[in-house]
Amino acid sequence: MQECTRDRQSPKVFLISGVSSGLGRASAEGALKAGHRVIGTVRRQEDADAFASLAPDRASPMLLDVTDFASIPLAITAAERDDGPIDVLVNNAGYGHEGVLEESSMDDLQRQFASNVFGPVAMMQAVLPGMRKRRRGHIINVTSMGGFITMPGISFYCGSKFALEGISEALGKEVAAFGIKVTTLAPGQFRTDWAGRSMDRTPRSIADYDAVMDPIRAARQAKSGNQPNDPAKAARALLAIVEEKNPPTRLFLGEDALGLVDEKLDDMRAEVGRWEVLSRSTGFGAH
Ligand code: NAP
Repeated sequence: MQECTRDRQSPKVFLISGVSSGLGRASAEGALKAGHRVIGTVRRQEDADAFASLAPDRASPMLLDVTDFASIPLAITAAERDDGPIDVLVNNAGYGHEGVLEESSMDDLQRQFASNVFGPVAMMQAVLPGMRKRRRGHIINVTSMGGFITMPGISFYCGSKFALEGISEALGKEVAAFGIKVTTLAPGQFRTDWAGRSMDRTPRSIADYDAVMDPIRAARQAKSGNQPNDPAKAARALLAIVEEKNPPTRLFLGEDALGLVDEKLDDMRAEVGRWEVLSRSTGFGAH
């Protein structure tokens, strides 16, 4: 069990993207309940109204599509003017693309990276100057167990989450000296709209893939609404991390995620060992 060093538990200003449903909504509700102020991004006016009604004095909706990169700096300047300096950025907004690589288009890939990678980076770039000046802040990027393990049929999604993992880990090393923390939250399967209304599914076109993909697609559809993990408990974990003096670089969420991650770590270690001699053979002095 890791040692927990609690940070000062004072009310903070959170900016959470994608608070209309799922993990973002649960995180916003959890933070509001804990007494924090939450700026939450949504894409529809009705979602803005619903979010504001959660805590009219502390829930501030921000109408924003995170792929509208140009509008992000101004939106954040306005939010900080109205709600105060952002202490915690939670880059949660994102979606999954389902489709075999060969069947999917470059547009599918561009859109996936725009939401899951470029938008979050634009958000980080907009909050970092303030956090750096204040010498404090916490950036939490919601990735996925699919940012460490992979599954056939969601290669673009996994690629986007691997990218956000890598960017986050390197950023953490760039900003640690300024008192800014960077954590990725990598959920397993949570009961949200992810595999339902939010999923972007490329139509099937190559019959050769049916044997591999039909059972995977059917299983994902059947599981939608029955996933084993509870978004409210993800919110609880997020709030615990925010209060940590030394938060993790990466936190997996869920028994399912941990099981698959352990399997991959074992496989990776074994494979690195199997090919060790060849790996070590490339130095000028090697034979
Ligand atoms: P969700 O219920 O579908 O929520 C996704 C949220 O992201 C919605 O609020 C959605 O807004 C917003 N969003 C999507 N694209 C956006 C964009 N371009 N600009 C602004 N907002 C956007 O699914 P969720 O499971 O809570 O997903 C939250 C995050 O967790 C995602 O990054 C997802 O990849 C990650 N994740 C989920 C799971 C899981 O099993 N649920 C597992 C691993 C990782 P709209 O209502 O306007 O569509």
